[in-house]
Amino acid sequence: MSIAIVWFRRDLRLADNAALHHACAHHTVVLPLYIHAPQEEGGWMPGAASRWWLHHALHALDNGLRRHHGSLHIRQGDSLATLLEVARQSNAEAVYWNRLYEPAAVARDSQIKASLREHGMAAHSSGGALWHEPWQLATQDGQPYRVFTPFWRKLRPLVEDVKPLPVPLPLRMLSLKDSLPLSALGLLPAVAWDKGMRDAWEPGEKGAHAMLELFADDAVGDYSVARDVPARHGTSRLSPHLHFGEITPRQILHGLGAMLQARDRKRRPDLEPFLRELGWREFAHHLLYHFPTTPTENFSARFQTFPWAADDDAQLQRWQQGRTGIPFVDAGMRELWHTGWMHNRVRMIVASFLTKNLRQHWRHGARWFWDTLVDADLANNTLGWQWVAGCGADAAPYFRVFNPVTQGQKFDPKGVYLRRWLPELADAPDACLHEPWKDPARLKRSGYPLPMVDLGQSRQSALAAYQASRASPNG
Ligand code: FAD
Repeated sequence: MSIAIVWFRRDLRLADNAALHHACAHHTVVLPLYIHAPQEEGGWMPGAASRWWLHHALHALDNGLRRHHGSLHIRQGDSLATLLEVARQSNAEAVYWNRLYEPAAVARDSQIKASLREHGMAAHSSGGALWHEPWQLATQDGQPYRVFTPFWRKLRPLVEDVKPLPVPLPLRMLSLKDSLPLSALGLLPAVAWDKGMRDAWEPGEKGAHAMLELFADDAVGDYSVARDVPARHGTSRLSPHLHFGEITPRQILHGLGAMLQARDRKRRPDLEPFLRELGWREFAHHLLYHFPTTPTENFSARFQTFPWAADDDAQLQRWQQGRTGIPFVDAGMRELWHTGWMHNRVRMIVASFLTKNLRQHWRHGARWFWDTLVDADLANNTLGWQWVAGCGADAAPYFRVFNPVTQGQKFDPKGVYLRRWLPELADAPDACLHEPWKDPARLKRSGYPLPMVDLGQSRQSALAAYQASRASPNG
């Protein structure tokens, strides 16, 4: 009998799972294993919201395996030592896994592959989280891409609608006795603050496919317009499912195509605007792989001399708590706190407010998102923050300062989103909802704070700081 370990990491699914598929094809039985090793994440241990998601996603994966009469074997500790120990206990001769792209994971996995082979075991890694591996795409002169449009022009024709891999059947599994209970990983919060997240999400493969179906039914047809309206469920909300590998881009493309085909053959919506966003995800992973210092360092060297304001904990806290006094910013920060997710347009606005109106370093914002987003993803989060701050690859220019008032008036004209998250302003008339300070008496009664900065003045100071840094000899 030949036995293989399938080492699950952030590929918490049974279908379209190349590692599981290959292991089942070449061995008689497989041992599904999860090793909890946050200390190996290079300083980017999962934040509180990610841990919550991980707990439920592991639970769902275990349930999925139990339907095939197996279970997920859970361990905690050093990954290599655990793999060797579990291999010894189970007599496994090979380990299979799907690749990750964060710098610490890449370094660890290549070391583990070499060590397993030194120990006489086979080690196989596969793709699937991305349409294309980051090292497969290069510019004409063999360099990594730094600009999205040519990257997408190269990648798009290579993205084919391929049938995803099915769950390998029969799934013959081995169980070992000494699995840790999931609760031993301590992933859930001690104090239950997770009601909003429980109401909003169903982690796991089933939840991912339900979300895709909802998107196909309700939103994809109108995506290019609705994606900018934060009050609507106008985007796919697949980001946490993608991050934890509960669904793959290949399954999304194929699944959407099949669902739309079945619904209305004549009026099939244009999927390109949505696929382009998945293209940004590929670009983010391409950048992180080729420029591994960017989660903490500016991509653009010109920003090394940028005069960020001194760290200000009080200001940062008001931003984190959604108490800045700028309604569109506060609504976004409260949506994030409550549900673990924030609409993309609002992410851009709250990030612009922090890095430009408050001139706090983008790293502070990225860390807060890291702790509070259920979709916190090193590649996408780094790209998002550096893009808004102006220091990233193919970033918005620094002088593009989002105005949260006009953005709110444009994308939430009736204040549906604001009223949902800011109960203090629920009774305010539409006319002053986005600028409640224009009616000081009502503002005082509402208990909502005055703006912590003047939007016009802080914008001017940010632009002046930018000009000064450009004029400096190193700028
Ligand atoms: P959809 O519009 O349905 O898009 C489909 C998928 O494409 C998303 O699930 C996501 O995987 C990908 N995608 C969409 N927009 C982007 C983008 N701009 N960059 C990279 N991938 C994208 N996304 C994360 O997944 N994790 C993060 O930690 C994260 N941090 C961000 C921080 C900032 C400051 C900003 C401005 C954006 C950030 N994003 C992040 C990107 C984007 O906001 C989310 O991916 C998107 O809002 C998720 O919602 P959705 O699944 O409904 O997206």
